[in-house]
Amino acid sequence: MSTNAYDIVVVGGGGTGLMAAWAAASEGRSVLLLEKGERLGGTTGMSVGTVTATDTRLQRSAGITDNADDHFEDMAKFAGPLVNRDNLELRRLLVDNSRETVEILTDMGVVFVGPLPEPPHRLPRMHAIIPHSRGFIRQLEKACRQRNVEIRTASPAAGLVVDNGRVTGVKLRSGGQIQARRAVVLASGDISSSALDYKSRFMSGPLLDISGINPLSTGDGQRMGEEAGGVVVNGDLAWGPEIRFTAPPKPSIISKLPPWPLLARMIRTGMKVLPDAIMRPFLLGFVTTFLAPSQLLFRKGSILVDTNGARFCNELDRPQDQIGRQEGKKAWIVLGGEVARQFSAYPNFISTAPGVGYAYLQEYERTRPDVVRKADTLDGLAAAMGIPADTLQKSVAAFNASRSPDDERAPMSEGPYYALGPIISWIVFSEGGLKVDDKLRVIHRDGHPIPGLYAAGSAGQGGVLLEGHGHHLGWAFTSGRLAGRNAALDA
Ligand SMILES: Cc1cc2nc3c(=O)[nH]c(=O)nc-3n(C[C@H](O)[C@H](O)[C@H](O)COP(=O)(O)OP(=O)(O)OC[C@H]3O[C@@H](n4cnc5c(N)ncnc54)[C@H](O)[C@@H]3O)c2cc1C
Repeated sequence: MSTNAYDIVVVGGGGTGLMAAWAAASEGRSVLLLEKGERLGGTTGMSVGTVTATDTRLQRSAGITDNADDHFEDMAKFAGPLVNRDNLELRRLLVDNSRETVEILTDMGVVFVGPLPEPPHRLPRMHAIIPHSRGFIRQLEKACRQRNVEIRTASPAAGLVVDNGRVTGVKLRSGGQIQARRAVVLASGDISSSALDYKSRFMSGPLLDISGINPLSTGDGQRMGEEAGGVVVNGDLAWGPEIRFTAPPKPSIISKLPPWPLLARMIRTGMKVLPDAIMRPFLLGFVTTFLAPSQLLFRKGSILVDTNGARFCNELDRPQDQIGRQEGKKAWIVLGGEVARQFSAYPNFISTAPGVGYAYLQEYERTRPDVVRKADTLDGLAAAMGIPADTLQKSVAAFNASRSPDDERAPMSEGPYYALGPIISWIVFSEGGLKVDDKLRVIHRDGHPIPGLYAAGSAGQGGVLLEGHGHHLGWAFTSGRLAGRNAALDA
């Protein structure tokens, strides 16, 4: 039976929140997890699913000797001009604790492949989940239920209860309150889909024309934390605008297979022993995420048109900034036979893809028919796209006329013609999170920790830079785990 008082209340049921709830419950605390969505998962369940860590079992079995100090140093190489804005205390916390996080996930039944290289990391450190990122959610939910965490979905938190400066509970959007005897952990994700009035406090330019991939990333935790005296750090930073295909509308039969550990281990073995011709289509069938078309398509001679077939930008000059201003905030990538022939082998890939590394045009035709239109003529292509043929003809003619004799971009003069899309420019995720200390306590604007309030994952990113791949999930799981444990143990 539901009660209204728990030791710990966790707001958000993505990777961070589930890990925090599991960690707090593992210390013997009673835990309630509130999730706004109909089901658990959040951005974590939509992700590609890489986690970067050092000195793991997988690294050691690949004969790699690595350590957290080198990881700490290498992370700075990804940050570019932002490097001075990093929170080194939190970077340290991440690299020192990621190994244990990966081992805990593995022991829960998550199956990783790798480690995969990603320069400028000096060694391969990226662990990629098999078959897909719902596996994190499935195993974490199971582990939480084994520890008697109470999970309520479709239960958005609306605010914090603050009593004499101490956070003592959570207000529910449906009315009523939940008491948190020890602490509340905010794990409600990022601000990428927050209302314009909130987002524009931090972001500017094309980021304000577009929304986040996850519509539930509305910055609720950041807002609640601010109301209690907290501060948002690095709110202007985001991965985006970035062009992505939409996720498959109907999951393939293969992707509907549950992420059982046994199945995942069979796939891992298959990847080692079976030929690519068998494994690639199978692995691509598992892709459930939003894949990013390569900008190389434009350098080789593809064009962008709007949903009426009109060209609207110079494809070589940040086209991602323009798509949010087009009708329906969508566009198509159009390519002729000359470019199509090039995109069937490395290094000309349509996108990276989990499990297989890179995906080529023919693989898209087979496994993602929802984002591929093909015809022998431009008129046929226009019909397949549902757009006026004369506008598309004009766009292609204008592109061909604009090419210089030594242009690297191929002309568009023969079929088969392809349209890839529609594509959307998104904020994949944003970086602005509440300022926290190395115990993940939310820091008041006056400088002291707010009693009873913790934040982790995107909601508690605290200014740490997580550039490269695998650091965001690494931070989500690691900071969630530490926040849950600290909240359970701190007096
Ligand atoms: C397409 C894509 C691919 C990615 N791939 C990778 C990758 O391979 N590696 C990597 O490191 N990172 C990746 N990322 C980034 C990574 O997924 C996120 O940074 C990470 O999952 C954030 O975890 P989180 O728990 O903080 O947020 P989430 O997973 O979003 O969880 C937050 C949860 O809180 C819920 N919530 C929000 N408000 C409330 C409220 N008021 N009350 C209750 N619940 C609430 C949300 O519904 C959500 O379920 C990817 C992101 C995207 C979009």
